[in-house]
Amino acid sequence: MTTLTICQFFTLEHILTSQGHAGRINGMSLSDMLFLSGNQANNKYQNIMSEIKGTIGVTTENIFPVIKKFLYSDHEIFMRELVANAVDAIQKMKALAASGEYKAELGELAVRIELDEKEKTLKVIDNGIGMTSEEVDKYINQIAFSSAGEFLEKYKDQLSSIIGHFGLGFYSAFMVSKKVTIETLSWKDGAKGVKWSCGGSPEYQMEDCDKADRGTVITLYIDDEESEFATKGRIQTLLDKYCKFMPVPVIFGKEQEWKDGKYVDTDKDNVINKTEPLWTRKPSELKDEDYMSFYRALYPMQDEPLFHIHLNVDYPFHLTGILYFPKIKDKIEITRNKIQLYCNQMFVTDSVDNIVPDFLTLLHGVIDSPDIPLNVSRSYLQSDANVKKISGYITKKVADRLEEIFKNEREALEKKWDNLKLFIEYGMLSDEKFMERAMKFCLLKNTDNKYFSIDEYKKAIETEQTDKDKKLVFLYATDPEAQYTYIEAAKSKGYDVLLMDCQLDSHFVNLLESKMENTRFSRVDSDSVDNLIPKEEKVKPEMNENEKEDLNSIFKAVLPKENQYYVQADNLGENAMPILITQSEFMRRYREMSALGGGMNFYGEMPASYNIIVNMQNPLIMKIVNAKLAEVKPAEAIADAPSDASDEKKKEIADLKEAARSAHEADLKAFAEKNEILKQITDLALLANGMLKGKDLNDFITRSAKVVSDAYLK
Ligand code: ADP
Repeated sequence: MTTLTICQFFTLEHILTSQGHAGRINGMSLSDMLFLSGNQANNKYQNIMSEIKGTIGVTTENIFPVIKKFLYSDHEIFMRELVANAVDAIQKMKALAASGEYKAELGELAVRIELDEKEKTLKVIDNGIGMTSEEVDKYINQIAFSSAGEFLEKYKDQLSSIIGHFGLGFYSAFMVSKKVTIETLSWKDGAKGVKWSCGGSPEYQMEDCDKADRGTVITLYIDDEESEFATKGRIQTLLDKYCKFMPVPVIFGKEQEWKDGKYVDTDKDNVINKTEPLWTRKPSELKDEDYMSFYRALYPMQDEPLFHIHLNVDYPFHLTGILYFPKIKDKIEITRNKIQLYCNQMFVTDSVDNIVPDFLTLLHGVIDSPDIPLNVSRSYLQSDANVKKISGYITKKVADRLEEIFKNEREALEKKWDNLKLFIEYGMLSDEKFMERAMKFCLLKNTDNKYFSIDEYKKAIETEQTDKDKKLVFLYATDPEAQYTYIEAAKSKGYDVLLMDCQLDSHFVNLLESKMENTRFSRVDSDSVDNLIPKEEKVKPEMNENEKEDLNSIFKAVLPKENQYYVQADNLGENAMPILITQSEFMRRYREMSALGGGMNFYGEMPASYNIIVNMQNPLIMKIVNAKLAEVKPAEAIADAPSDASDEKKKEIADLKEAARSAHEADLKAFAEKNEILKQITDLALLANGMLKGKDLNDFITRSAKVVSDAYLK
């Protein structure tokens, strides 16, 4: 038995990571190096050792407190680390057998987890390559500890965010254990069993043992404070989370069956994982149903996905995976963070932001890549060249797939479009490259539920909807119920109206407008139907300034006070409505965008403003206002003071004019308020826009009843 003092901290990978090598030297991971034979490995190893020697800086006493304290929130990852080591050891064994270096029987290769709830011990058992005593010394005693202090100092602000991605390796066992033992027998001929144990102090023991079969048993004596990890339920959950798709069978106890009123163990091993998850298989061997059932297994509570993509790339990085387009209605936030990231079938995390572009975090599914540096901080990830390539690749694949669906499965795309639209629009708004691609396959839906690509739509409306300045006008509605009258008016003129009723549509409309030349978007109710797409200069009503002012005063008297109105006279034809209320496209859009957080608060804080378009060709209007407008303004009738008049005289005349103006104003107000029909037609216009509420609505109903009965009974 030897007693040695541990004088180095943390795993080699951590030192390399803290030096920015992302766990690799000369492009090799530690595991790669273990495959190198003889001298080659020794040379590499010595180089590494000389690096380590320079960086020791922390006293041995604090390693275990450090492990426990800093990594508190993620104690459970010990399970992933230990099972991953066991799986590695088995994979190496397979490789040795495949290369012919190992010729004997391999046996049934598996990792076994054994829990003794009473003794509070947990064993991770494998029949992999095992370790000789030299190897235990080298990989566990020496390499395992290194510059923890430097590492912690460098990353102290980001510790909590990196821990989840950061393999503490074998030593993570100490996060939950008061003592850990390793019993191991190497595959090599003539190897002797070794037992290593360490009780959470910087001292460890190594001795020979008579382990009979090849492989390694790690035994954790669970700490009293961590006794949750000595319960079957917790271990089962951890294995499900981290080991569900590991490439070697992971066995925990026996399968159970219901017998005589209780569950009892059967003879069959309870295998936690599927060793060949769908993403590792060839797409050509798989059917739609396979993808669906895999989705259901991943997300039992979710709606069926719309489409899937099978990712598979070998160069310049390795990446496999399956992504699904989920149904997204309006719950962007809820749908996020569903992509699971794996590294060689080992679960790493389900928050992939910084690895894929933001809009792709709306997708569901699995990405597996050994080339994503997982043991570095999240902010570092963004600038990593591999991560950038991976992110670009995934975006391209998603666009390719959507284009393929657009070309070959148009009907299915149209059927699913309403649930896919939010995702595509979000992608187009947030990712320039995706936007360029999506202009081809993005669909527009009109108010008759017909779908068009952007190019198809342009062709369809070209003849009818090009205005006098040769601009193509896309008309759209955001609420077909509320804007019904306007939609019908546009349709009866031979126009088509798009439906833009989704959360992001006001931003999306801006985007399309900025990307398409000579094109403009107008909401159907942003002007009278004649003015939506002006074809030629129209003859406006002939009115002088006084008449315009009077018309303004008359209507302001009968409109609700809380909004701003711009009263305009127009010729809409004698059969058109007497009054039309519209909202300027520009003002409305900016108000909407500022409400969505577009940052234009100036417009958001202004009162809503509307255009009151008075149809001067409507007979009712003519009858009500023409005579009134023709009256001479009393202030005009008062002669101006001659230029040589005294100041006193000038003031007297100015006061007279002012009084005449006020009296005229009051007269117009009284005239308007007294005219029930004027009030009635104004209210009708408000009603058509859903703007008549409360007392005004009640007054309107009472007045309507009276007008109807007067008209009938007269
Ligand atoms: P890492 O796995 O990241 O290299 P660890 O601290 O987890 O770091 O393990 C260090 C080394 O110890 C491994 O690379 C491997 O060589 C050896 N090792 C750990 N667990 C086992 C095991 N179950 N069987 C064989 N070798 C092991």
